[in-house]
Amino acid sequence: MNVFKAMKPERVYTTVKMIPWVSLKSEGITVALLDFDNTLGPDHATAPTDYSIECVKEIQEAGIRCCLVSNARSGRSKGIAQALDIPCVTYARKPEPVGVRRALEMMGAQKEDAVMVGDQVFTDVIAGNLAGVRSFLVEKLYPKEIWYVALKRIPEKLVRLIGHF
Ligand SMILES: [Mg+2]
Repeated sequence: MNVFKAMKPERVYTTVKMIPWVSLKSEGITVALLDFDNTLGPDHATAPTDYSIECVKEIQEAGIRCCLVSNARSGRSKGIAQALDIPCVTYARKPEPVGVRRALEMMGAQKEDAVMVGDQVFTDVIAGNLAGVRSFLVEKLYPKEIWYVALKRIPEKLVRLIGHF
């Protein structure tokens, strides 16, 4: 796959709540693969917030099943997934597609059935694209980020500028 194509999300939304889940369901989407840090909750949180819970509920109410796909160490992401009562792939190794593929298998879904949603081009979008699912980028939920994510925002900005998204 072309490098730039791999970095381009199909769509960009401000937040997870802005995603039209009901119409996605009518397009055949049955599984939402969700990043957590700065997509559904604060970066490096250990528990979901009310916002995270509301997002999952809204997606589920649209008839779409949720699965966390997180690069975080297993304890932290498992705890969050348990609190949200949804399955989870930990150590997903995004931008590699392996975690997304594992999530599809776990959910009994085909790549055509799923959308990957996350706040980072260099992890979430690339992983989704390489795995062949639809990829949506959301803007980071909170300005505060761990230093190595903050660093990645610089080339990410450039890629978004060049790619017009
Ligand atoms: Mg994230």
